[in-house]
Amino acid sequence: MSHRALVTGAAGFLGSHLVDRLLAEGFSVIGVDNFSTGSAANLAHLAGESRFQFEERDICQPFDPGPVDFVFNFASPASPPEYLRLALETLHVGSIGTENALAIAHKYGASFLHASTSECYGDPLVHPQPESYWGNVNPVGPRSVYDEAKRYAESLTMAWHRYRGVNTHMVRIFNTYGPRLHPSDGRVISNFVMQALRSEPLTVYGDGQQTRSFCFVSDLIDGIYRLSRSDEHMPVNIGNPTEFTILECAQAVLEVTGSSSALTYAPLPQDDPTRRRPDITRARTLLGWEPKISLREGLALSLDFFRSRL
Ligand code: NAD
Ligand code: UDP
Repeated sequence: MSHRALVTGAAGFLGSHLVDRLLAEGFSVIGVDNFSTGSAANLAHLAGESRFQFEERDICQPFDPGPVDFVFNFASPASPPEYLRLALETLHVGSIGTENALAIAHKYGASFLHASTSECYGDPLVHPQPESYWGNVNPVGPRSVYDEAKRYAESLTMAWHRYRGVNTHMVRIFNTYGPRLHPSDGRVISNFVMQALRSEPLTVYGDGQQTRSFCFVSDLIDGIYRLSRSDEHMPVNIGNPTEFTILECAQAVLEVTGSSSALTYAPLPQDDPTRRRPDITRARTLLGWEPKISLREGLALSLDFFRSRL
């Protein structure tokens, strides 16, 4: 049986990789995006693909893509500088936009998968983070436009499941990188790799002792695809549990690029989480999933993309 899927945020980093995976699985796909942080270049390779259709639109305006079996809700600015620049838009897409996407799933009896985030845990007091942890989020700090939009979107998704019977899924995505990660959207991997390739100093914020756990994009998309086929309605962490300090991350980038860039230090942004590491027990047991690609391997697999953007 052939399926038709709607992907919101299809021109973004993760959305475009998800579209590729769905097409490879035999789906027809309609992608929508308003290009606020995404780019048509991420979908250029699909120009001749008859099973892929694209519409430029803002999902905060109600729309009807026609009958679909799956809705994947990926639209939202995702990098800190971008969601701070697009603060109100980020709140709107997490609330109004997500509700519009849920209404489409409800109308057509489609399954729904929402792209949530490890930011729901804020600056976590429990380490590593299991899905049962409720988080430590500043509701009025600068990052709250993203964190609270994402937490509200989870609440909305559960309510459409409980009260309207939509078959919903939620993935809490931990820092993911790979080809098509926007070279200048300010996330740590794209910043460090572009700086290393340009022989510029790597900009470490704070003392670089804060940690993140980096997942390569193909591992993430595989976990998300498995989750979409599952019966699980509660949030599932998908991420790579190997944890790095930001200084260790800088070191890995220097090694893989062969760069001799220096490090330079800049102030830590307000409320920057001190640590992040997923507990992936649920993904392992429910989905039989675990990541396969190490940070150094993933960086090596990303280099051609970043070099092409120099
Ligand atoms: P991205 O910025 O590359 O992609 C987001 C896409 O959504 C962009 O193409 C953008 O133009 C589009 N978009 C934003 N607002 C829209 C609107 N109102 N209507 C239509 N399109 C809109 O970011 P990404 O890294 O691909 O993130 C995709 C999703 O995954 C986001 O929801 C993000 O919160 C989530 N996520 C990503 C990460 C990560 O590490 N990459 C981590 C946690 C969560
Ligand atoms: N960071 C950094 N230098 C940069 C960009 C980011 O040291 O050029 C740090 C940032 O302060 C944070 C971590 O790297 O501690 C991850 O930042 P990113 O913006 O990629 O994602 P976050 O996990 O904070 O949403």
